[in-house]
Amino acid sequence: MIIDLSLPLGEETPIYPMDPGVKIRPWAFIEKDGYYMNILKLGEHTGTHVDAPAHFVPGGKAIDELPLKKFIGQAFVIDVRKGNDKIQLEEIPDSGYHDKIVLFSTGGRELSPEVALFLVAEGAKAVGTDAMSIGDDAVHKILLSEELPIFENLTNLESLLGKEFTFIAFPLKIEGGSGSPVRAVAILEDEGEYSESNQWRASLVLDPSREVLWNYIKRSGTFFR
Ligand SMILES: [Zn+2]
Repeated sequence: MIIDLSLPLGEETPIYPMDPGVKIRPWAFIEKDGYYMNILKLGEHTGTHVDAPAHFVPGGKAIDELPLKKFIGQAFVIDVRKGNDKIQLEEIPDSGYHDKIVLFSTGGRELSPEVALFLVAEGAKAVGTDAMSIGDDAVHKILLSEELPIFENLTNLESLLGKEFTFIAFPLKIEGGSGSPVRAVAILEDEGEYSESNQWRASLVLDPSREVLWNYIKRSGTFFR
């Protein structure tokens, strides 16, 4: 199953204060030109997007210089929707961050610098939030100077609480870019009937007692009638 974690990108997309708004203007029409196309005008940090080190770190890598493996990985969501101040260390799990993409369901809250430092120290691979910003300049600098990509303006994170999944959000290859809009998704293993029937197929080969198969038949009732 694929879950879309991206906001629609249009002129109504909420914009961070002082950032440029989105403009979408028609360039060609089927009736007049034989084909349809629009012109886009938008900041690199519009809608669901990723920040590259160059966004805050002098001499830091631009979005086209980061390896693609930075934008895909095993991920989980931390629920920090309760509370209204910056997210503190006491609110997040003690461990389990190494090489993980760590996403925050925030209700609009931002990370404290202490949490950003902790994520870097624990070896997190990347960080994401459903808020407009992960945190203040200090938080950005802590994460970006260690080349952790920051995904902002994600959506639907609350639907992934308690699950492990693959997160993918590739940027456009903007030369020298400070960031890029992304199409962020979560890919979950299929559950239920499908994987269970695969399990009994495997059991025919692997399980001479056929225990898994008999349990499946008992539970599925009508299947073999
Ligand atoms: Zn950004």
